[in-house]
Amino acid sequence: MKNELLILAPLPDFLLEPLRAAHVCHDYFHAEDKAALLANVGARIRGIVMSGGSVSPMALLPKLPKLEIISMFGVGYDNVPVDWCRAHNVRVTNTPDVLTEDVADAASALVLMTSRRLIAANRFLHAGTWTQGPFPLSHALRGKLAGILGLGRIGKAIAQRLEAHGMRIAYHGRTRQELNWEFFESLIELARAADFLIVACPGGEKTKHLINAAVLEALGSEGTLINIARGSVVDEAALIAALQRGTIRGAGLDVFENEPQVPEALMQCGNAVLLPHLGSGTHETRREMARLVVENLAAYFSGKALLTPVC
Ligand code: NAP
Repeated sequence: MKNELLILAPLPDFLLEPLRAAHVCHDYFHAEDKAALLANVGARIRGIVMSGGSVSPMALLPKLPKLEIISMFGVGYDNVPVDWCRAHNVRVTNTPDVLTEDVADAASALVLMTSRRLIAANRFLHAGTWTQGPFPLSHALRGKLAGILGLGRIGKAIAQRLEAHGMRIAYHGRTRQELNWEFFESLIELARAADFLIVACPGGEKTKHLINAAVLEALGSEGTLINIARGSVVDEAALIAALQRGTIRGAGLDVFENEPQVPEALMQCGNAVLLPHLGSGTHETRREMARLVVENLAAYFSGKALLTPVC
């Protein structure tokens, strides 16, 4: 008999098809009457599949008495109640490593787009403005300091790319690592030293608004904020104020506090490059992520070890 899963996110066909072949999948995300769906199938659900964009499943959990596993289509699991899962013997899996290089590519693209003003330059040409004179000068990367908040898998891959651009690297995290890159105990001191402050730590309560008005003030008018981690890490209202006042030079953002809603005031900031959370959004990577979701569930339900367990 097939196991029953609750799907909490819009998933691509190349993930849904193998999931449907192996399990009975109930699409909670698209269900018009979510309460009725839960009432009908909640008692039989053994697994949840969700993604970074899913709402927290916390409110659903009391209605899923047979839940055994949550499989995250993504590496960040800040919207999964991991402590609750540990306490209730619910396993959690995610999709680390396979997306690292793509997310780092997106981060270094944001560094280039903001420093060289590539988006503005592209608009300038398309608008036919080039015939009236050259595009204004921008800023070089070589010799500049990239300060990375969260030097994990993605942070390190970003550092390697930016070193290739001639940048110096420093980082802040909860622990100093055995690396040649400079470690800053204080985030605010890292912001003060950095030309680019790059957010690559997990989201969630522990990192909420780590980037606040004081950190942006320390980053200063020649500094740029890059965020490819989670919108929750940055106080978006403080960021908008800093961009409007020129407290910082610019921002390159792939993630937002209330995505896919992006504040109009942020969209109006000409010194911000904004991307629709596309860090891992390539055919190749999303298929690898899908494979991990499918294989983790298959491993769990056949009693084998999980490939990428969170808990
Ligand atoms: P990772 O390997 O676990 O690295 C996370 C890093 O953050 C670690 O170096 C950790 O170092 C640091 N960190 C954790 N808590 C911290 C805190 N409270 N303060 C400061 N630093 C902290 O994770 P990863 O694979 O690199 O992924 C990082 C994040 O990127 C994910 O959690 C996800 O939210 C985001 N992401 C975004 C996209 C996208 O499409 N934009 C795609 C994938 C992932 P310490 O333990 O030393 O503090």
